[in-house]
Order: sequence, then structure tokens, then C-alpha cells
Amino acid sequence: MKTVIVTGASRGIGACIAKEFAKNGYNVVLNYFKSEEKAIEVSKEIESLGARVLLSKADVSDPAQVQAMVEEAINVFGNVDVLVNNAGISISGLLIDMTNEQIQNLVSTNLVSQIVCAREVAKHMIGRQSGRIVNVSSIWGVVGGSNETVYSATKAGIIGFTKALAKELGLSNITVNAVAPGAIETDMMKCYDAETKNQIAEETTLGRIGKPEDIAKAVLFLASDDASYITGQVLRVDGGWNI
Ligand code: NAD
Repeated sequence: MKTVIVTGASRGIGACIAKEFAKNGYNVVLNYFKSEEKAIEVSKEIESLGARVLLSKADVSDPAQVQAMVEEAINVFGNVDVLVNNAGISISGLLIDMTNEQIQNLVSTNLVSQIVCAREVAKHMIGRQSGRIVNVSSIWGVVGGSNETVYSATKAGIIGFTKALAKELGLSNITVNAVAPGAIETDMMKCYDAETKNQIAEETTLGRIGKPEDIAKAVLFLASDDASYITGQVLRVDGGWNI
């Protein structure tokens, strides 16, 4: 049985990805940071789907906690086949108003965390000559968003990292890809009022805001055998926004 680590999986896109993999026969390492109750709820849903789940509390911006999480996953399940680097935060505002702490927090939570998680699983995947890494970026990493400059920088950094790591790991039979979600209905969009959401939907070719399932299915595809000849790519899952 294959094993997936999904970071930031207690809610939103991460929880949906975890459930999608469980439905498709994976053991799930469900990483969460603060929301233990929600993580337990998601883990119960996963178990009811017949999958095994390991609840793994770790702040992914802390390399020591990431190392411990990956070690525990390997100890419990024997191997890690897929890493989904999903955890992330959004802090909006004009760059001139951002504090040093906010900038550091965004970079360490969104970008450094993905790099360290990938490093830890890559050590293991190289030994097995097999693996899949899927990084969650954002359309803001592709086109850049005013009022989201640092967030955009972290998400663009993920894209550069994805392409570089794909080149480094290709001969080890490990693929590395990114998804770039558009506007997806989760807690991260709570800051937008109904009018703004309607406007985003109108600007989107498919006329609606995305659902976590839209992202989860794309991630599952990139981790599947059907995607074995796809690496270093950024799959926009954005309903055709800004094409
Ligand atoms: P969300 O806020 O609902 O979920 C984010 C998850 O990351 C939460 O479970 C949170 O606990 C976790 N997390 C945050 N910091 C963490 C840390 N230090 N350690 C471990 N976990 C941590 O938001 P979401 O929309 O589900 O976002 C998931 C991913 O999708 C993020 O990387 C986000 O940037 C990206 N994304 C979201 C949208 C959107 O419109 N919702 C668009 C583009 C990209």
C-alpha cells in the first residue's frame, strides 16, 4: 500500500487532498499544526474510508519538526511514496506596511517548509528510486498579486524550486510538479466579501470559484502512475482565470 504525506491537512484543500488519496487506497500521514480537533475529525473520515492514518503534529516551518514527521511516517508505514506540500498561510497588505516578522513568517511557512519537507522525503525516495512530490503554489506565484507581494514571492519561489528539483531528481525516477490554484473556497478566502467573490467568479472563464476537490483531483493525478512522464510542470487549476 502506498503512503502519502499531506501537510496542512486539518482543513481546506489539504483535508480534501488527504481524503482523495485515502479514497484511492493510500495510507495517509495527516500533518497539522494547531487544529488538533479538526485533524482528528478528518482522520476519522479517512479511517471510515478504510485507509490507515497517522496524525502528525508538526510546524512545517521548523526543520527539526519536519525531520521528526518524516522519520515517524517511515517508521509507521515503512515508506513514503508521495509528498504533498500543501501547508501555507496568506498575509495580505501593502508591502510598505508588512513587518519583518510577517515577511519571515510567510517565507518560512510557505517556501522554506516545502524545501525542507522535500529534502527529507527525497533522501528516502532516492534510496528507493521512486517517488512523487507535488507542491501547492498559487496563481499569484505565476502572475503576481498586488497586496500579496510576499505571498506571491513565496509561491513563485515554489515554482522555481519545483523545476530545479525535478531536474535534480529525474534520474532517480522521482517526479516533482506544482499545482497553481486560482481562487478556491476555503478559510483562506474568508477575507473576501460576497461582492469580491462574485467579481472573481465573473473574471473566471468557467464562471465560478473553485472547490478544494478541484485541486485534490489534480494533485492525485500528478501523483498517479498516469503522470509518470510529467515532471517540472506547473498545472494551473484556476477555472481559466486570466488566460
Ligand atoms: P487554509 O487556511 O484553509 O489551510 C491551510 C492549512 O495549512 C491549514 O490546515 C493550516 O493549519 C496549515 N498550516 C499553516 N501553517 C502551518 C504550519 N506552520 N505547519 C503546518 N501546517 C500549517 O487554506 P487553503 O486554501 O486550504 O490553502 C492550502 C494551500 O493552497 C496553501 O498553500 C495556499 O497558499 C494554497 N492556495 C490556496 C488558494 C485559495 O484560494 N484557497 C489559492 C491558491 C493557493
